[in-house]
Amino acid sequence: CGIVGYVGNRPALSIVIDGLRRLEYRGYDSAGVAIVDGGLLKTEKKAGKLANLEKALAERSGDGIEAGVTGIGHTRWATHGGPTDRNAHPHVSVDGRVAVIHNGIIENFARLRVELEATGVEFRSDTDTECAAHLLAAEMRKLRESGAEDGPAMLAEGMRRVANRLEGAFTLLAVDVDVPDAVVAARRNSPLVVGRGNGENFLASDVSAFIEHTREAIELGQDQVVLITPAGIEITGFDGSPAIGTEFHIDWDA
Ligand code: GLU
Repeated sequence: CGIVGYVGNRPALSIVIDGLRRLEYRGYDSAGVAIVDGGLLKTEKKAGKLANLEKALAERSGDGIEAGVTGIGHTRWATHGGPTDRNAHPHVSVDGRVAVIHNGIIENFARLRVELEATGVEFRSDTDTECAAHLLAAEMRKLRESGAEDGPAMLAEGMRRVANRLEGAFTLLAVDVDVPDAVVAARRNSPLVVGRGNGENFLASDVSAFIEHTREAIELGQDQVVLITPAGIEITGFDGSPAIGTEFHIDWDA
């Protein structure tokens, strides 16, 4: 229901949680975060209010989740799978390298799940979303095996390949622990805006999530992938063709 992504030079966790709080008015039943820090993917997710997530985060003090500078966060309004801890987002690939959050509905998830299970993937939730995490991990593996250059561009290509396989409406955000300074997103018939900062960039389902950090925003078109790194914002169509968003200045108080 609500989506936030951050990459920059400040700790991502508090920025992501604050952003989720600003999206709370939309309603949700669960919340979760994924933070990339020092070559590790750290996730936490809980059914219920943000306070439940924050309590769980406070209880795991010492593992450095609050220090990582790349992160994504989600508030869920369950459509497939009940509102439980394990169905909350993020969903993580079996290899533990990729985390995905999603707003919307992936209509062909059942077919994709059967296909992935046939390759040995064991699903850990009842959501339509989880297949996107496994698909992305598989595409990243294939890209690495093909000798493609590792880095943010590879993550964008992986996401384009996944987006092309999905039917339905989705805003998908993903991080890959081996691409530490990037968040990638794909959008089809579901809200997503980019916030342009200084040495940091934001993604959200609504500008109110990042308005206290920047008022320079970019509206995307349909069927686009956006890659944010601390220094850049790169938009492409699902076919890889370069695209440009519509820049706008937020001059109202959200
Ligand atoms: N369909 C997904 C789920 O049920 C995402 C729901 C949402 O938009 O929050 O997990």
